[in-house]
Amino acid sequence: MNVLVVGGAGYVGSHAVRLLTRAGYPVWVYDNCQRGHRAAVPAELLIEGDLLDHQKLVDVLRDKSIDAVMHFAAFALVGESVSDPAGYYQNNVVGTLTLLNAMRTTNVRRMVFSSTCATYGIPQSVPISEEHAQMPVNPYGFTKLCIEQALQDYAHAYDLGFVALRYFNAAGASPDGDLGEDHTPESHLIPLLLQTALGQRKHVTIFGQDYPTADGTCIRDYIHVDDLGTAHIKALEQVAPGVQLKLNLGTGRGTSVSSAIETSELVTGRKIPTVIGDRRAGDPPELVADSRRAQRQLDWEPQYLDFKQIVETAWHWHRTHPHGYAT
Ligand code: UDP
Repeated sequence: MNVLVVGGAGYVGSHAVRLLTRAGYPVWVYDNCQRGHRAAVPAELLIEGDLLDHQKLVDVLRDKSIDAVMHFAAFALVGESVSDPAGYYQNNVVGTLTLLNAMRTTNVRRMVFSSTCATYGIPQSVPISEEHAQMPVNPYGFTKLCIEQALQDYAHAYDLGFVALRYFNAAGASPDGDLGEDHTPESHLIPLLLQTALGQRKHVTIFGQDYPTADGTCIRDYIHVDDLGTAHIKALEQVAPGVQLKLNLGTGRGTSVSSAIETSELVTGRKIPTVIGDRRAGDPPELVADSRRAQRQLDWEPQYLDFKQIVETAWHWHRTHPHGYAT
């Protein structure tokens, strides 16, 4: 099966590409390298192109005889989606429709799609199962929900098969230290903590300490990026015309911001200065996945169940790549 990994130079995509090639799949990466990194992908696999370029997508799908698409290409920052919804709807929704239409033109009928727990909004109960109502609270979540709906409609009308994987908080880095998280600007908790441990930042702001949780800080379900990659490969093995699956990917274990700070201090052996700030708009108090359906359906289970292990892999990356891929 020839696989096109769209957005394969990004954080989660590049880890999936590494696992796919190791598993023996013929893989091509399609990425415009605006937010992704050329250095994250073997040069001979990279095709530089834009998600909005219908003709180029058609050419690549045809020329490389692609059988399945893994689609990671998206803008994924909640705050940015609030200040620039136009960019988010254009890139995420219009871009994905362009890709889906190119797939229709070339009769490629398998897609594994990166969705998100942000499609659920503020949870009414945790852990969150796939049955939980989807009521996003920011444009990013809405763009992903729009795409899930489009996938379902295309599947019904055009016999597309898809697996939408709703990630919780992607974290960590490949254990060999070659691939890792490198966003500009960085807004995610774990890289910010580790950059502070490296002395690149003065402190980390804790966004709210008055949440209705045990220590007053937000709880998230951090899942290792290689566990996400493995789930993608399992999804690829199952996706076929007629298949319509929407699955949560998380560990089922919650970690609070305060506890993430403690663990990061333990792993790095350094004090990480923090200041208490206001709540960040749109942050639910607790997001923890019920991933039992994914575990059953994909015969998958996350290997990194210990948050400390996840931070250790991230620390290895940050210490050896203090300036990310530019190091
Ligand atoms: N967070 C924080 N300070 C920061 C960045 C994040 O307190 O500088 C908190 C944030 O409020 C959330 C958790 O850390 O509860 C994870 O945030 P992140 O941005 O990493 O991922 P998100 O949950 O937004 O996808």
